[in-house]
Amino acid sequence: MDNYIVSARKYRPATFQSVVGQKSLTTTLKNAIQNNKLAHAYLFCGPRGVGKTTCARIFAKTINCLHPKADGEACNECESCQAFNENRSYNIYELDAASNNSVDDIRSLTDQVRIPPQIGRYKVYIIDEVHMLSTQAFNAFLKTLEEPPHHAIFILATTEKHKIIPTILSRCQIYDFSRIGINDIVDYLEYVAQSENVSAEKEALNAIAQKADGGMRDALSIFDQVVSFSAGNVTYKSVIENLNVLDYEYYFRLTDALLAGNVSQSLLILNEILGKGFDGQQIVSGLANFFRDVLVCKDPQTIVLFEVGDAVKEKYLVLSRQCSVEFLYKAIELSNECDLNYRYSKNKRLLIELLLIRLCQLNHQPSPVDDKKKIKLEPLVEAKKEPEVKQAQQEQAVPKAPEKPVTPEVSTNEVISKSSLRVSLKKPVEAPTGEEHPVTEAAKNVVLDERFTQEDLKTAWINYAGKEEDAHLKNTILNVNPQLSENNLIRIAVFNPDQQRKLTDKTVEIKTFLAQQLRNTQISLDIFVTEDEKQYLPYGNKNIFEFMAEKNPAILSLAKEFNLKLD
Ligand SMILES: [Zn+2]
Repeated sequence: MDNYIVSARKYRPATFQSVVGQKSLTTTLKNAIQNNKLAHAYLFCGPRGVGKTTCARIFAKTINCLHPKADGEACNECESCQAFNENRSYNIYELDAASNNSVDDIRSLTDQVRIPPQIGRYKVYIIDEVHMLSTQAFNAFLKTLEEPPHHAIFILATTEKHKIIPTILSRCQIYDFSRIGINDIVDYLEYVAQSENVSAEKEALNAIAQKADGGMRDALSIFDQVVSFSAGNVTYKSVIENLNVLDYEYYFRLTDALLAGNVSQSLLILNEILGKGFDGQQIVSGLANFFRDVLVCKDPQTIVLFEVGDAVKEKYLVLSRQCSVEFLYKAIELSNECDLNYRYSKNKRLLIELLLIRLCQLNHQPSPVDDKKKIKLEPLVEAKKEPEVKQAQQEQAVPKAPEKPVTPEVSTNEVISKSSLRVSLKKPVEAPTGEEHPVTEAAKNVVLDERFTQEDLKTAWINYAGKEEDAHLKNTILNVNPQLSENNLIRIAVFNPDQQRKLTDKTVEIKTFLAQQLRNTQISLDIFVTEDEKQYLPYGNKNIFEFMAEKNPAILSLAKEFNLKLD
């Protein structure tokens, strides 16, 4: 613990073998070296801290090694290797384009390119954050890149590949570095901890790895911080206290509330977490990950993938037994969707609260197997009963603002009352003839429910579509074909859960509108996802893209070529 050296520097890998989490990429590089198939320019792309510069340095060292090993690695012993390892080799030149992006900076680099190496075979020029070069600098560099001397190799590194101009891209061999997996990071931190005689709880390292978000450099520097303030005893508690990491204990409590369908409790827990200063998106994406971890624990075969200490693993195991697979699938889906929508939401807190309410409902709805995923609402007249509405208000009242419980039930009630009124008033009174039954005052106030046909329904449905303002939803409405079933039940088959949810959100409006058009207040809706696979329609950009790519794989290469990304 006394002369503690910053881990990120001390544990920088010296061989391809020891680079963490980029196995296929380092193997390809090693093979290229062994087969003597070197390009003049490489582009290393990927997030920060995943090993781009490290690999560039190892590459430079390896191609200059005087006695390379049989497996393609540098010997780390010859004069050239030693010069590299001691940072005194003249065969490597690093330029950080983030701070040196002028034409002059590039000129001083290209001037050097012509001078051949004195020891070793290659001079390697690493340009970090190459996307930061000015346009002029880029152009000046392009000339050198087009006709490099045989001893020069360029390695360009960037976190933002899309900012690299095509003329540069087309001259480089491109390597995409990925984020490093949590387990890989945990393993490596464990190795560092052992080497440094630091005791570290596995779930503490796990929390560090999560915090580092796939970057090894960040993981190591966080590890260093924790080591320094915890005096060499890295515990889970010390990590979450000092790094503002959300304690998974919250997720356990939250899931208990969700499973019990306890909306108030879940909203209170959310309030507590927000009160600790955690970002909403962090909570939501953390929740999605948590459900995923619980799902992993359900299967004895995958639980080995779950790298935490035994005590924590046991907690997850117990919880996983309480959750059905259906619940977890749906919970992951809903949380993930909330995560994706979060950025665009105007009322972010409400978005999370809605997520929790939906999650609470998951275990308190008819099983999808029994009822074909139907979301059925009570007939209009029943919803009017005052006592039920009051009870529902009490159950769903948002604890933060009890004076203003804006619950769906209240507005539902209002809309329905108005609509029922309108229906009874708008009922055309036909010109009374002598034989007609006289219309009594009492009868006028009775809501008249007329029979209607499938054809009537179709017309009313198209009319409803006409007044929908959201073009996407309008399309959905026009694409489904509502079917009149017994007892004024309208069965609406949709093609995916997203459509189901969107239409279900509109239930009150749809029913109100149809009640007016069809003069019937007894209408109920059954919006369900059709089981017919042929009817499947993709939804959401990503889903549509995958659907298209499956039909025409050329789309994939097109997307790759232009570096298209779907948010
Ligand atoms: Zn060597």
